[in-house]
Amino acid sequence: MLTRSALIYLSRQEGLKDFAARFSLFKKLTTRFIAGESIDEAVAAIREVNAHGCSASFDHLNESVSSTAETEAEVREYLDVLRRIDETGINSNVSIKLTQFGLEIDPELAYRNARRVVEDAARRGNFVRVDMEGSNVTQATIDVFKRLRAEFGLNDVGIVLQSYLYRTMDDARDLLKIPARIRLCKGAYNEPPEVAYPNKKDVDDNYIRVMQLLLSSGIYHGIATHDPRMIDATLEFAKRERVSKGAFEFQMLYGIRRDLQEQLARDGYGMRVYVPYGKHWYPYFMRRLAERPANIWFVLKNLWK
Ligand SMILES: Cc1cc2nc3c(=O)[nH]c(=O)nc-3n(C[C@H](O)[C@H](O)[C@H](O)COP(=O)(O)OP(=O)(O)OC[C@H]3O[C@@H](n4cnc5c(N)ncnc54)[C@H](O)[C@@H]3O)c2cc1C
Repeated sequence: MLTRSALIYLSRQEGLKDFAARFSLFKKLTTRFIAGESIDEAVAAIREVNAHGCSASFDHLNESVSSTAETEAEVREYLDVLRRIDETGINSNVSIKLTQFGLEIDPELAYRNARRVVEDAARRGNFVRVDMEGSNVTQATIDVFKRLRAEFGLNDVGIVLQSYLYRTMDDARDLLKIPARIRLCKGAYNEPPEVAYPNKKDVDDNYIRVMQLLLSSGIYHGIATHDPRMIDATLEFAKRERVSKGAFEFQMLYGIRRDLQEQLARDGYGMRVYVPYGKHWYPYFMRRLAERPANIWFVLKNLWK
């Protein structure tokens, strides 16, 4: 049986994508989690998401970019996305990864690239979420975010924290002082026990602690999870502390627990769906498989059919 770490390891072997993509069925299965390879396909998916009462966040799939020219193409893609959001009137913001903008080449390059996107979003009254990646870039990501936040407003740019990291409660307290809008998630990368809780129970307990801190801050945050226990804990806490429905939003990934997405939206909660698209779907797709063993069986079963 493939373990979570083995799948996350495979997610970093992008060469395998070409092999995997040869199976047309494998490609077909990716459409469960990925909106398509082009902006047009992502716009169509977001219209559908909007029609179910949910807002969205565009994610152009790419990470660990290693050439300056490629980072430039990523900036242009996002400027295009922001223009398309305005032109089409869809309800969506954007999520970016700093390694996509060159963080591993030179943090200064990533900052300059991200700044161009945030500046354009701010001008359009839109919002940029800086995703969080592996722990090797956590501090660098926070540093770039703080520089952006010093120049732009609370409602122009926000960041993500992961409850599996030991440092996250301290980071949350620190970022709330700025203040900053935070998306809280559990974390999707393979982290060693020196930096992250190895046991799910500790990750979940920390998630609830940080969620309570965020909801008590009076700032609009994103509670990103498909875990019914985390959602119930959030609903209960909000009720008990009289945090209104409009004071935060839930967030989920495209194609995961659509039933729950629509239910929460129907109940009057903000629900934002993260919509990934693009040619570099392989690492993202493999991380989604790693999160849930049943997905692997789903893939294997269909490959042999
Ligand atoms: C909007 C959004 C943005 C995110 N941004 C980041 C980020 O910037 N950085 C980062 O490291 N991680 C990010 N993540 C991923 C996150 O860290 C987790 O890996 C992922 O959400 C799974 O955790 P969970 O909270 O759903 O709980 P889990 O305990 O993993 O899952 C709980 C239940 O949710 C359902 N579920 C979860 N995942 C799947 C799946 N793949 N397929 C089918 N069912 C599933 C299952 O029913 C499962 O039992 C993001 C997640 C969301 C929703």
